[in-house]
Amino acid sequence: MRRLAALVLVFALGFPAFVFGADDDALAGYSRQSSPTERDWETKFRALPEPANLRAYMQRLSARPHHVGSPYDKDNAEWILARFKEWGLDAHLEKFDLLFPTPKVRVLEMTEPTRFTAKLEEPALAVDPTSNQKSEQLPTYNAYSPDGDVTAPLVFVNYGLPEDYEKLDRLGISVKGAIVIAKYYQSWRGVKPKVAAEHGAIGCLIYSEPRDDGYGREDVFPQGPMRNPDGVQRGSVMDFASVSPGDPLTPGFVASESAKRLSVGEAKSIAKIPTLPISYGDAQPLLAALKGPMAPEEWRGGLPIPYRVGPGPAKVHLKLEFNWDIKPVYDVIAKIPGSVAPDEWIIRGNHHDAWVNGAEDPVSGQAPLLEEARSFGLLLKQGWKPRRTIIYTAWDGEEPMLLGSTEWVEAHADELRQHAAVYINSDGNDRGLLNLGGSHSLEHFINAVARDVEDPETKMTVWQRLHLSEIAEAKSAEDRKELRERPDLRIHALGSGTDFTGFLDHIGVATLDLGYGGEDEQGIYHSIYDDLYWYLHFSDFDFVYGRALAETIGTAVMRLADAELLPFDFVDQADTVKKYIKDLQKLLKDKQDEITEQNKELEEGVFKATNDPRKPRVAPKYEEVPPHLNFAPMENAADTLAGSAERYNRALGKAQASFSRGDMGALNRKLIESERALTNADGLPRRAWYKHLLYAPGIYTGYDVKTVPGVREGIEQKRYAEADQEIARVAKALQDEAVVIDAAAGMLEADAETTKGTQ
Ligand SMILES: [Zn+2]
Repeated sequence: MRRLAALVLVFALGFPAFVFGADDDALAGYSRQSSPTERDWETKFRALPEPANLRAYMQRLSARPHHVGSPYDKDNAEWILARFKEWGLDAHLEKFDLLFPTPKVRVLEMTEPTRFTAKLEEPALAVDPTSNQKSEQLPTYNAYSPDGDVTAPLVFVNYGLPEDYEKLDRLGISVKGAIVIAKYYQSWRGVKPKVAAEHGAIGCLIYSEPRDDGYGREDVFPQGPMRNPDGVQRGSVMDFASVSPGDPLTPGFVASESAKRLSVGEAKSIAKIPTLPISYGDAQPLLAALKGPMAPEEWRGGLPIPYRVGPGPAKVHLKLEFNWDIKPVYDVIAKIPGSVAPDEWIIRGNHHDAWVNGAEDPVSGQAPLLEEARSFGLLLKQGWKPRRTIIYTAWDGEEPMLLGSTEWVEAHADELRQHAAVYINSDGNDRGLLNLGGSHSLEHFINAVARDVEDPETKMTVWQRLHLSEIAEAKSAEDRKELRERPDLRIHALGSGTDFTGFLDHIGVATLDLGYGGEDEQGIYHSIYDDLYWYLHFSDFDFVYGRALAETIGTAVMRLADAELLPFDFVDQADTVKKYIKDLQKLLKDKQDEITEQNKELEEGVFKATNDPRKPRVAPKYEEVPPHLNFAPMENAADTLAGSAERYNRALGKAQASFSRGDMGALNRKLIESERALTNADGLPRRAWYKHLLYAPGIYTGYDVKTVPGVREGIEQKRYAEADQEIARVAKALQDEAVVIDAAAGMLEADAETTKGTQ
């Protein structure tokens, strides 16, 4: 799985990031003496990844369906293990046993006003050689839907988001006791049955709308890259954002063979209502049979029908039964022990399991990971000795909901809290711009890496290409000004939907999530057509962006592993926090203004005046205007944090010539603590597994992040007293962060003093 939402870029005013080491060419975190040596090793590394190898890995790994529990999933894990060993890495498998449902019965039929039985089948295509592997393909389904047998009138709910149900309220339409049909996208898919169930629906269909990833964008497969009328998006609907990802039967604990398990009925993260994904071929007759009001203009799609909302007269029978089996997942773990600081870990991962053949998702990201590992094996033979321990991971069970990575994180939680410095994730790769996501203490670092990698198409650096593309896309003169003046491009905060979630949100490990994309359309996501044939015709078929991803992430891993001092920068972090506070203040003000205006219009009779009695609408209700919140504790803490960040950079500038003489172990341990300081052991309200107070997946977005989630979701969900309490908790975390940074700055200052004394 990976987020398919368009690149999210955040623009705002902020003071320029302090560039340390600007007085010379030394890499951040390196002394002047060690920096050129590192540059040499990195240059050697970037010459090693080979497109032909990437293609060969893809051919091998995507040759057969390889979902959790399938023979080829295990076969791939063993093959990856053998490669890591062949390249000289110390590698092993880690197995977990967990709940992975597969379909036993799938029936979808319309019983009124006419009869129609859905096909629920993606046909093999003669030109596509792996599309006929029927005996090994998983049928189209949503994993962690409950069993169910329901018959009810159908209602079209657009993307099935909370605001869509507000619109339905205005149309006077309830989904209570109904089966809803929602379009894919605009949220993570599991949000759709969740919101439907909260509004009383008893079943949920999710279809791929041709305007979004079918013929509305380009030709359909196999003539083009887009979804054809039978193509279906499989995928998980586990309610991971409100509970936790990983095995639903062992939440927060390790899914070992002998683990105490909840029963399926007790598992809180299993969806509440039966849910099935369908093609637009199957959706069209159902939607065409709906009457009732016309759907709001922006809800309508690309099918040749009037889009109506219902309810009915279309009545639908949905029957689903699953095999609720415990299946093994096999994570492949490879280590390069650190030569100086083996207890400081740099971890890199991408999943290896797929819904079917998965050439794009996940193999286009897994192949560069393997090429990085092969290249590191060669460098080790040439005498490269990374200072820190490097851990390469190929996760299993990502698609059902981050199973392999979450269980690994839970199994190694204590070690990770002590040793994990940085986690770098990818999950697929295509042609185009580098997508930069991560913790803001790494913003400055990853900008520097992107300045050292060449874009295969323009021959600019990937940083330059991204910078200029962001100028082209900028929405205001103010945004363009910031882009031209701020030394670093802003990176986006991470939500979820892929394997970094356990590292960042549960443990508080500084994280990056990277990949190229944006130039090619794709409509094969989680279908049998995401395979080698598709990738070789419609994506990065010469694998030059695969090579660019290996160069980018490999360089980042080396630079993090070799640096004397972990290259974290807190000025960018403090700047980002200040921006978030402004965003939250604006969110509250906008809500207050919106509700005040709505109440005024109700008094004036605006809704009565604009109501068409032949197309009646229900007026909104009077609402209480949100109270003012006191952001002062967070604002004060952000100022303290900014002061500490600047003090740290000043100390670093002074100490850089000599800092390798000091106690680097103690200093790096402080730096490793910095991301942990942003977590709280009690976690977020009602979802204790999520411990990071600055980043979390939104309860009603899934893929998309909610920054400062406790406060933001408090305001969005009208829990103002809770938002107030969360402001205090976030302020405390920011103060704790400042204390950690001050301690690190103090060590650097003492180091510089000692050095002066000995000269
Ligand atoms: Zn994926």
